[in-house]
Amino acid sequence: MLTAHLPSGYLLAKSWPRRSKALMATALLGAVFPDFDMLWFYLVDHRAFHHHHYWVHIPAFWALLGLVALPLLRLAWPRVLPHAALLLAAVFLHLLLDSMTGAIAWAWPWRDTLYALFEVPASQANWVLSFLLHWTFLAEIAIWLAAFAVWRRSGW
Ligand SMILES: [Zn+2]
Repeated sequence: MLTAHLPSGYLLAKSWPRRSKALMATALLGAVFPDFDMLWFYLVDHRAFHHHHYWVHIPAFWALLGLVALPLLRLAWPRVLPHAALLLAAVFLHLLLDSMTGAIAWAWPWRDTLYALFEVPASQANWVLSFLLHWTFLAEIAIWLAAFAVWRRSGW
């Protein structure tokens, strides 16, 4: 997914049982956080590896983190628990949306294979154009429109 992670986080926060500006910020951060690995991808690894192989795009990492951190937070710092749960939900939403065309290693650590629902062929000279002109980009437009409609109706 190229553009719709932020509005998907907005929609997640709007559908969350508890709402506050801090929870909205948490959802927005979690929805885009995995793609911060692009800094490492471009600046350190010089595009040597698909960035979806980095730990921030590995579902098993987040699942393990959640299994360890959520019970500990519940015991030691319960006020943070809603933020941690929403952050994890937003990250998993990011990974699900990336799975549409971007491919995610859902079976790691058993397999390194990246799984995607649909493959976007390199129909254009620029890969971004190939994604923008592929029918799956309609899903991104739909997410943006849904977020805009919710925002128009209810604001933050
Ligand atoms: Zn991503």
